[in-house]
Amino acid sequence: MRLPKTINILGHKIKIVRKQLRSCMGKFVTRQLTIYLHPCNTSLMRETLLHEILHVIIWISRVGFTTLADEERFIHNLSPVLYQVLKDNKGLL
Ligand SMILES: [Zn+2]
Repeated sequence: MRLPKTINILGHKIKIVRKQLRSCMGKFVTRQLTIYLHPCNTSLMRETLLHEILHVIIWISRVGFTTLADEERFIHNLSPVLYQVLKDNKGLL
């Protein structure tokens, strides 16, 4: 299964672009509505995509973490667990 070129998150069309990144595996650029993913194996790209999707959801929902470090820590802990739950329960959605 290939990664999508765009995804719809709460009415926002988000582009997904593979790009060589130097300091991270992925990043969400709000002004471009684009998630950049560093090319690597598909499983790691999917995990990274879910991580970046959580950044998008937090941005859209205006949850408002005090610092980016707090947001990063929250997503860093939540993302792999959510990824595993979705992977283990394919009929969930
Ligand atoms: Zn992050």
